[in-house]
Amino acid sequence: MVLAELGSRISTALQKANKQTIIDEKVITDMVNEISSSLMASDVNIKQVSQLKNNIKKVLLSDENKGADKRRLILRVVIKELVRLLDPGVPAFKPQKNRTNVVMFVGLQGSGKTTTCAKYAYYYKKKRGLKVALVCADTFRAGAFDQLAQNATKVGIPFYGDYNETDPVKLASDGVTQFKREKFDLIIVDTSGRHMQEQALFQEMQDVARVVQPDDIIFVMDSSIGQAAIDQATAFKNQVNVGSVIMTKLDGHAKGGGAMSAVAATKSPITFIGTGEEFTEFQEFEAQSFVQRLLGM
Ligand code: GDP
Repeated sequence: MVLAELGSRISTALQKANKQTIIDEKVITDMVNEISSSLMASDVNIKQVSQLKNNIKKVLLSDENKGADKRRLILRVVIKELVRLLDPGVPAFKPQKNRTNVVMFVGLQGSGKTTTCAKYAYYYKKKRGLKVALVCADTFRAGAFDQLAQNATKVGIPFYGDYNETDPVKLASDGVTQFKREKFDLIIVDTSGRHMQEQALFQEMQDVARVVQPDDIIFVMDSSIGQAAIDQATAFKNQVNVGSVIMTKLDGHAKGGGAMSAVAATKSPITFIGTGEEFTEFQEFEAQSFVQRLLGM
């Protein structure tokens, strides 16, 4: 994972500063510059980087902290600023056991939406013990139902779909009604994606949302597009009530940091990240622990 490289560069910068006998302004400036350049290499927006840089310097060089234990303070302030970059401070919806939770997945085609529906379903079944079902309301992409059915079978999760039904709204409504009747805890609705954010996609999403009344709309985002994530996330948020974001494909490319920080800037919490094609390559995302792990703590 390329983000590991970012983590190790930041850790090295911290260690280098901590090794100095006297931590003066030059040591702090060098450290902050190194952190900034590693964030920029991970495609984080220059404005966000410069804000982070100023915030760290402001705290470390303030008169108030003159006598403080700089080594401890450095770590604390760097973590705090990195967390701020990734955490919009908005709570995300969490499905609960013994009640009906309906979540709807949206995103562009190829973002990893259908794969992520299965990963999410598997996570809540396996790790949280919920009774989970999947509904395929993607009538746009040929083979979408087969793919969802295959994935669902692999992870042992009941699914609903119909080859002969062309109306995604009816499919979503019928599937959710059936699983509600059968007292499932978590009903996941996979919707159609398109190559572009076009009006037909948005209209369909709105229609499906109106009939299934989801507790959460999850936007699936391919992290390889980097900072362009901000425009895509904003476009979806403006059309439907996106409550959380799952970032996919954080394995193996350099733009992950850019996408994650860009999405956080839209005030949408990232709840999970996908780090591979397997169902298990899926991690809960919580900014504080992510940053700590990134720094090898
Ligand atoms: P959809 O069109 O949005 O439903 O996308 P799919 O679920 O069909 O996924 C598109 C491709 O991305 C497939 O080849 C998936 O295996 C792959 N994919 C999904 N998530 C990840 C991920 O986290 N990492 C990697 N490397 N590939 C992923």
